[in-house]
Amino acid sequence: MRVHLTATTKMWLLTSLAFFYVIIQYHVSNTWPLPTTGNDLQESEMDTQRRIWLKRIVGDSKLAEEIQNMIGEKVTQDLAYRINRQLLSHSCIFHENESLFNLPVIYIVTPTYRRPEQLAELTRMSQTLMHVQNIYWLLIEDAKEKSQMISNFLNRTGIRFIHLHSDSTQGKYKGAKPRGVGSRNKGLKWIRENANDGVLYFADDDNTYDLQLFKEMRYTKKVSMWPVGLVTQTGVSSPIVKNGKFVGFYDGWIGGRKFPVDMAGFAINIKFLKTRPNAAMAYKLGYEEDSFLKSLAPFEPQNIELKADNCTKILVWHTQTKKNPSSLPLDKKKYADTNLIELKQYVV
Ligand code: UDP
Ligand code: MN
Repeated sequence: MRVHLTATTKMWLLTSLAFFYVIIQYHVSNTWPLPTTGNDLQESEMDTQRRIWLKRIVGDSKLAEEIQNMIGEKVTQDLAYRINRQLLSHSCIFHENESLFNLPVIYIVTPTYRRPEQLAELTRMSQTLMHVQNIYWLLIEDAKEKSQMISNFLNRTGIRFIHLHSDSTQGKYKGAKPRGVGSRNKGLKWIRENANDGVLYFADDDNTYDLQLFKEMRYTKKVSMWPVGLVTQTGVSSPIVKNGKFVGFYDGWIGGRKFPVDMAGFAINIKFLKTRPNAAMAYKLGYEEDSFLKSLAPFEPQNIELKADNCTKILVWHTQTKKNPSSLPLDKKKYADTNLIELKQYVV
């Protein structure tokens, strides 16, 4: 049978072949194909960039060199996965024409707790964060101790993370329990002790984040804000903007708050945060955001930096997952020596 290929099909075939050649080269060889013309000793641009990326990924030149020598031999699957991920995300930086070295770090503080939905939420969130450049993910478990399962999970993501815990049963609250406050304060403490600049963002594990949001917040000078979708019956919580200027807040529940905003609706510059050594979140349900923003005083609502095109775009949603009941116990006798024993570890 004869197959007739059009010029376009041929071109596509050639392009696909070239693409696969590049992928295979990356996995099997210890250097990218160097340019055949000119000085053979000269590194290709890609090779130089790869070296820079690798140094950044491992944060240590000597280790980077050792790994560099290993690539092409036998790299562990996990390491290859991480490097691939980082290469992918860093390549976006060059797309955006932003300098790899000048990009401020975003410290993402996420409280989390064990429940049937936890791994599903964290999977969704982590796979968003995998696309964001230069972040530190502070994942803080509401638990007496850190769990091996979450530790394994974090390692698989390839994201730069800090794994902490904070036990809310030892909480300092009266009445209804505020959710995630101890963990957020723990994250704040870590940042005060370990970070000098960059941006802090409180990102709950169950919200939905548009990648553009992180670009908006990255250059926050003091405190930036933007709309959050799916908050109360008003459907959105946002600063109100008139003629390009902040004139008030729109939120379904004002409750006497000076800053009636959602946790997902603001970010803080870390240098600025450090000029406010007592800034912290109060253990008071409904007043978490307000108490924190008020503790940044002197700081007034008029000083906020408006993002998301003067607050005309929704780039984050306060989504809430349906609560699932705990699963039924597994009959360990009946299913002994089967996959279900291992599987059940992940099921709450
Ligand atoms: N959270 C926590 N411990 C709890 C309840 C909640 O650490 O006992 C975390 C949760 O994982 C989320 C944040 O605190 O990241 C806010 O909780 P939730 O989403 O339940 O609050 P809502 O969005 O419904 O106000
Ligand atoms: Mn939530």
